[in-house]
Amino acid sequence: MSDLRFERIGRCPACGGPRLRPARPGTLDAAALNPEAIKITDSEYGKVWDLAACLDCGHLFADPSPRPAFIAALYEAVEDPLYDAEAEGRSKNFAPILRRLARLAPARGKLFDVGAATGLLLDLARRDGWRVDGIDASAWAARWAAERRGIPLRQGAFEEADLPAGGYQAVTMIDLIEHTPTPRAAVAKAASILVPGGVLALVTPDIHSPLAVLAGRRWWHLRPGHLAYFSRASLDALLASAGFRVVLRRRYAWTFSAHYLVSRFSLLAGFAASRSSSFLKRIQIKLALRDSFEIYAVKDNTT
Ligand SMILES: [Zn+2]
Repeated sequence: MSDLRFERIGRCPACGGPRLRPARPGTLDAAALNPEAIKITDSEYGKVWDLAACLDCGHLFADPSPRPAFIAALYEAVEDPLYDAEAEGRSKNFAPILRRLARLAPARGKLFDVGAATGLLLDLARRDGWRVDGIDASAWAARWAAERRGIPLRQGAFEEADLPAGGYQAVTMIDLIEHTPTPRAAVAKAASILVPGGVLALVTPDIHSPLAVLAGRRWWHLRPGHLAYFSRASLDALLASAGFRVVLRRRYAWTFSAHYLVSRFSLLAGFAASRSSSFLKRIQIKLALRDSFEIYAVKDNTT
């Protein structure tokens, strides 16, 4: 493919292995990709890239893959006010992660959030006693975090950001790693900015979870923004590549408002837009879908 926006993948993006095979033909028009289709609250479920699989770790990933510069340009233009309209539910998702980090990290010092969106997690962390820092690819999100939450978020690609080595006790990557074409560079960067013994908290969908298998091609995590689908083996290989040791594995529970859930189903969109939507926004529903990994990994003292 001569298109400068895309490239063929020669080695597994998770484990680095060379033995790859085509796995699944894509269902999206990659050439027509735009910021609307990749925002967090997109509803283009079921649309996937041409996927290849790694014969060593089982990782599933986009091949051809969008080049990092193309993805960075797309995300820079993403605007997603609906994301922040769900602040209450999302905060409920983040609070338990911060509790676990406080327990596992060497100290409640500096926390860096990768893919910080509008700064929700950082806002909670700050109230919890952390000094906070973070980055998002979206210029709109970085502005929103600064103007509405007083959090001076960095804007750009985490892998290339100018950050102090060993400057943080904790790094969070919540629903981030499946969006980047360079996950090994991302976890290596996380390791480089952590102190020895520092903790990385990572959440990403599990392609082998019972719900993913049951839903098949209708699984809600199959979407244009996701360039990769991790399994336990490929996630372990990815983390090991950067010298991380997994210390806690959990399943992630999502909390959404009834309004958000209803609005995600196009058949009910008219209902969601009706006068009852403010009522629905107040109803918080915890979904124990158990279809995402929630992993805590420590940077080994030797690395
Ligand atoms: Zn692999």
